Amino acid sequence: MTEAPVLIGVWKQLVGQEPAARTLSSASAAAARIIENQPVAPGAMTHAWLVTGPPGSGRSTAARVFAAALQCSTGTGCGECPGCRTVVAGTHADVKLVAPEGLSISVAEMRSLVQAAARRPTTGRWQVVIIEDADRLTEGASNALLKAVEEPPDRTVFLLCAPSDHPDDVSVTIRSRCRLVTLRTPPAEAIAQVLVERDGIDPERAQWAASVSSGHVGRARRLATDEAARQRRATVLRIPLGLRRPSDVFTCADQLISAAEADAGEESKVRDEAERSELRTAMGGDGTGKGVAGAKRAAEAAVKQLEKRQKSRATRTQRDTLDLALVDLAAFYRDVLVTKSGAGATLNHPDHASEISQAASAWAPDSILRRLEAVLECREAIDLNVKPRIAVEAMVTTLRQG
Ligand SMILES: [Zn+2]
Repeated sequence: MTEAPVLIGVWKQLVGQEPAARTLSSASAAAARIIENQPVAPGAMTHAWLVTGPPGSGRSTAARVFAAALQCSTGTGCGECPGCRTVVAGTHADVKLVAPEGLSISVAEMRSLVQAAARRPTTGRWQVVIIEDADRLTEGASNALLKAVEEPPDRTVFLLCAPSDHPDDVSVTIRSRCRLVTLRTPPAEAIAQVLVERDGIDPERAQWAASVSSGHVGRARRLATDEAARQRRATVLRIPLGLRRPSDVFTCADQLISAAEADAGEESKVRDEAERSELRTAMGGDGTGKGVAGAKRAAEAAVKQLEKRQKSRATRTQRDTLDLALVDLAAFYRDVLVTKSGAGATLNHPDHASEISQAASAWAPDSILRRLEAVLECREAIDLNVKPRIAVEAMVTTLRQG
């Protein structure tokens, strides 16, 4: 086995993603040669990319890091120059980020984005558009994007992120116009290492968090740094063995939903407040004189719009958080199943090994499987807009009966 190369500069953020980092860094090196009017091999740089990978593997981080390298004055993604630093901070004028904050990106949003992308880059390098969750594009938005991706302006780069390159996720036509970068589930050691080096987390805690986060970097960081998140995970993992009486079904369903709400609420609160104060600053404070009334009206309208967006984003965060809890739960039953079969595979929840083996000796294989399926069906139902409480209660009923 060859040892993974040491990642430097902004590339350090691509935890456990050395192959993708190599592809993207050689493309950014070619991009730098294009800026300097030097010859490059055909296809060395591409105008449209699709970054895919499992949840938590760092798709949007990969897109941002690549964007930084494209704007880097040394062309390497040094992490030190103003280009790199402003992209990483999210303030570079030529890097536009679309994170669909509601459940999808609107056509109007996409049109204005495509227009902005056609402008010449202000810094003379690249105009970069990052679309997070390109799988949540509506058909209309997708069509608006397609034209730009088909005939990209000279100095424009589109970076699309999606969970997979499955045709259901991203339209076949768009996919066929993009170069594909696939991220893998980062290994636990790589996650632990970044938690220690980047976030200054104590090595023992970092290792534990990495081992129970199923390769989800953000989740590992959260578990390592947030006591409340650790408690919520514990609540979720108490469910499988905690369903004794019929009334436990409702208690557990309730706990699951309120844990997700609390988690999402905390995340939204911090973000919402920051955005409101930013907007207030941008709109200017109180003043007198000509034009003030008009400015006030505009400010009020902007605040209303922001609040609407925040509300729609909160719904989505809540769903995503509930989904994470369901993934944890499914992983528990999967652990029980592999323990039962004696396959000796690595557990998703190694810190719950004794509960897992307790369940493995108590339940028959087909009843474990039914429970696992109930969790997966619940995820699907919520994805299809079934009310979370209804879907969760149906699931917990099966979890109890087996
Ligand atoms: Zn740089």
